[in-house]
Amino acid sequence: MKTPPFKFHRPKSIEEAVSIASELKNNGDSFDWISGGTDLLPNYKWHINAKKNVISLANIEVMKTHESYHIGAMVSLHELEHGPTHPLIRKAAGTIASTLIRRSGTVGGNLCLDTRCFWYNQTEDWRRSIDWCHKCDCDTEADCRVIPNQNTLCVATYQGDLAPCMMVLGAKIHLAGPEGQRSMKLDEFYALDGMKRNVLEVGEFVTHITLPIESDQLEGDYQKLRLRESWDFPEAGVAASWKRNDSGIEQLYVATTACESIPRLHMEETSVALNEWNGKESAKKLAENIRKTVKPVNNTYFPPAYRRKMLRVLTKRALSGSWSD
Ligand SMILES: Cc1cc2nc3c(=O)[nH]c(=O)nc-3n(C[C@H](O)[C@H](O)[C@H](O)COP(=O)(O)OP(=O)(O)OC[C@H]3O[C@@H](n4cnc5c(N)ncnc54)[C@H](O)[C@@H]3O)c2cc1C
Ligand code: SF4
Repeated sequence: MKTPPFKFHRPKSIEEAVSIASELKNNGDSFDWISGGTDLLPNYKWHINAKKNVISLANIEVMKTHESYHIGAMVSLHELEHGPTHPLIRKAAGTIASTLIRRSGTVGGNLCLDTRCFWYNQTEDWRRSIDWCHKCDCDTEADCRVIPNQNTLCVATYQGDLAPCMMVLGAKIHLAGPEGQRSMKLDEFYALDGMKRNVLEVGEFVTHITLPIESDQLEGDYQKLRLRESWDFPEAGVAASWKRNDSGIEQLYVATTACESIPRLHMEETSVALNEWNGKESAKKLAENIRKTVKPVNNTYFPPAYRRKMLRVLTKRALSGSWSD
């Protein structure tokens, strides 16, 4: 299918990008941000919610800054994999998609990835044949195909790999937009709706991520389930980090992805586990609690029951470096 025509804007600074976005917003014109385009352009080719304007962030040099604790949104996944940042993030970056996609795909695009659903990531003809769905309804007021009779919420799945790894390291996300700049903990960035996806307001975009210096003291691991190891999106993913002390561990974080509309940091479950931590047995209990808490729906390749079971397995695997037998 042909990509629908759009006007392409190429700002060279954050200020210019904000000014273009403000002007389009004030004129009532629709637009999307584009970074590497590995997610946006396939959607456009399938005529999924394509906009008349696309603003590229690719020429904004300051967004390519890449240091241990400061990762620009325009840093590519390939650069991230081989760069100076935390080993947990480097490992996750190296598992995303394929070598080719990692050369173009960026950190910002990965964190703002559109949510996915097998009723939605299809060609226009395919979607027309099922009379559309709520997320791209072509003005038909079509219902959600996964959970029908509730036209207010989309439960499409967030299938990005970086977010859970950055969450367990205490990352902050930094945004710029017409109302100025703001920052928040990464786990506060996501919104539990497959259409809204995150807290970004119209005209706002991600400029960079920062990690606290103390993240150096955290060890961690990331485990994911996917159909083909060569390039598929995660069907479930678990990131874990911990800080050791003489008697075991004193900090513990677990985050999941690819099972809900948002990646999720599990503070409640991990603080209970930490209080009574005794290594392998506690990890098993925590893994079971994570399985119970996360509720995938039937909209990706593997069935939800299998993905939930695998969350337990992945959590145990991700934590296996936190004790010595
Ligand atoms: C075959 C295939 C396999 C894949 N496998 C994986 C995988 O295993 N794991 C995984 O995580 N991803 C996977 N992806 C998805 C994607 O390639 C990556 O997530 C990539 O990092 C997206 O980055 P991008 O720069 O190309 O995003 P883009 O396509 O440019 O943008 C993605 C979305 O984010 C928005 N956006 C981009 N940058 C910003 C910004 N700075 N601020 C605000 N909004 C922004 C865009 O408007 C768009 O909605 C796969 C994609 C394909 C095609
Ligand atoms: S979850 Fe429902 S509304 Fe969202 S993309 Fe899937 S079918 Fe459409």
